[in-house]
Amino acid sequence: MILRLRSESPEDTLAVARTLGEELRPGDVVALTGDLGAGKTLFCKGVGEALGIPPDRIVSPTFTIVTEHEGPVPLMHIDVYRLSGAREADEIGMRELLSGDGVCLVEWAEKISELLPTDCIQVTFTISGDDRREIEVAAPDLPRFDDFRARSKRFQLH
Ligand code: ADP
Ligand code: MG
Repeated sequence: MILRLRSESPEDTLAVARTLGEELRPGDVVALTGDLGAGKTLFCKGVGEALGIPPDRIVSPTFTIVTEHEGPVPLMHIDVYRLSGAREADEIGMRELLSGDGVCLVEWAEKISELLPTDCIQVTFTISGDDRREIEVAAPDLPRFDDFRARSKRFQLH
């Protein structure tokens, strides 16, 4: 399933993220791709909210690669911006992390594409204006993502 969504404000992006977050299950990996300032971290806040994590806990860290948030479902917020690539990520245990029981959100996921599970959820952001973003969501064909499609209708581009 591939959906193209239009966000016209940070609040829209949060709403899309919360809606996706409500469909996520332990073990899911969400790969986030997009330029600096595209909205990846904001999206993580929205997903976190849906999983019971207060949004102010999810921040863009300067040096930390992995932040674990405890909740009903553990949430791993991963930002690989400062890693050189898949090999370095592998050396610090990324493979194990991505195959664990938490929900993993990976910012700059394209840097470690070789390590991502084939059934991961891909979210790609394009900046199309000061407050406008195009958000493409590619997810496995599963009923829970059909629910996401139905519940995100107002943001869909046709
Ligand atoms: P990234 O993690 O991709 O570098 P952030 O989520 O940290 O990006 O920052 C996105 C910035 O863009 C925030 O300051 C946010 O307020 C702003 N912004 C403006 N419009 C939008 C939008 N429609 N969706 C997401 N962020 C937006
Ligand atoms: Mg970020």
